[in-house]
Amino acid sequence: MSTEPLPILEEGSHGAVSADEPDAGGPDQDLGNAITDPASAPPMTGVWAEVVGQEAATAPLRAAAAHASAMTHAWLITGPPGSGRSQAARAFAAALQCARGGCGECRECTTALSGAHADVTVVATEKVTISIDEVRGLISVAQTSPSQGRWRVIIIEDADRMTERTSNVLLKSIEEPPPRTVWLLCAPSAEDVAVTIRSRCRIAHLRVPDPEVVARLLTERDGIDPELALECAHAAQSHIGIARRLARDPGARKRRDQVLALATEIRGVGDAVLAAADLVKVSEEDAAAATAERDAEERNELLRTLGADDGGRLPPALRAQVKQLEDDQKRRATRHKRDVLDRAIVDLMSFYRDVAIVQTGADVPLVNASHRGHIEQVARRGDMSDTVRVLDALALARERLAGNVAPLLAIEAMLIALRPRVRD
Ligand SMILES: [Zn+2]
Repeated sequence: MSTEPLPILEEGSHGAVSADEPDAGGPDQDLGNAITDPASAPPMTGVWAEVVGQEAATAPLRAAAAHASAMTHAWLITGPPGSGRSQAARAFAAALQCARGGCGECRECTTALSGAHADVTVVATEKVTISIDEVRGLISVAQTSPSQGRWRVIIIEDADRMTERTSNVLLKSIEEPPPRTVWLLCAPSAEDVAVTIRSRCRIAHLRVPDPEVVARLLTERDGIDPELALECAHAAQSHIGIARRLARDPGARKRRDQVLALATEIRGVGDAVLAAADLVKVSEEDAAAATAERDAEERNELLRTLGADDGGRLPPALRAQVKQLEDDQKRRATRHKRDVLDRAIVDLMSFYRDVAIVQTGADVPLVNASHRGHIEQVARRGDMSDTVRVLDALALARERLAGNVAPLLAIEAMLIALRPRVRD
């Protein structure tokens, strides 16, 4: 336990920025003072070492962890998928708990990073929305003092999955948190979060790191061969988690190659329909494999908690709870399936982006350099208007999937659009 003075804020204070109206400038206000000056923030070492390529964006977080005067009770960490939002949030939580400001080695740091710290609550939902009850639970956690750490930190990794009504429940707690409570919300962009919430948060905006930076991380930390690391970093479009999976799992690289091959293999409607059925089947198998074991464990755990684990019939009063869990699990599997399909669409988009680059002769590196032959083949058989048409169809399919259209229908329509256009 540290004997250093704790940077305790006044009740309801917004720290150093409270002198200004916290929501005066809206979410995009420029906090251009010492707090955002990277020069005044501690270096990107310790817990920050893995938040690659985000020196400027994380400067306010690092400064806040180091100087009490730069602290704020509510933060919104934004950035596109793969930019490392949740990594940044956990690093910040660790830096707040660590007596040395985020050494990366002590118990406070390691438990905060892994999500096991008693005073760091991480909400990483796999459901489509975060329920109002979950948020109420978090609010009561937020009211309690830290049990051992310096701060009570609550991280909501998908703050964009809260409905307006749920956001309003959270609002009060974010406005007037207890003195040692810190809320860290993560979302793709500030606009994904209710305006009432985001106007009360300081915003740290992460960007997509360069593929070279991601490749270096894979090489240095995971011992991946530099050439493979760079290829995978490009293919994953700098999404660190996906790049790592591609680099480590030849099966994942093969599945991605198969998706990209659709661009040249689909000649007619028949091919498209067959390929769509395949793709949806693969996503279902993937979802089943990823969730089956966990579903069973969770069910057993719940039954144990309810005192009904002897395999007997469940009393009617408890059935509702089991039903609730099963519904949650079903939603999680649905989301996983959609994520797999979404990833396939994003991969195809990167292929057609490369086709457009070849067609325009732009001097930009290809995302899928190892598929150059096929990219050039597709580039030659059509023109830019064909490429744009396909990209539109891919974007539409993503939208439809997100909007709960039956996946098979959305994917079929999309793949039919990949057919070479018959020229007259
Ligand atoms: Zn530490």
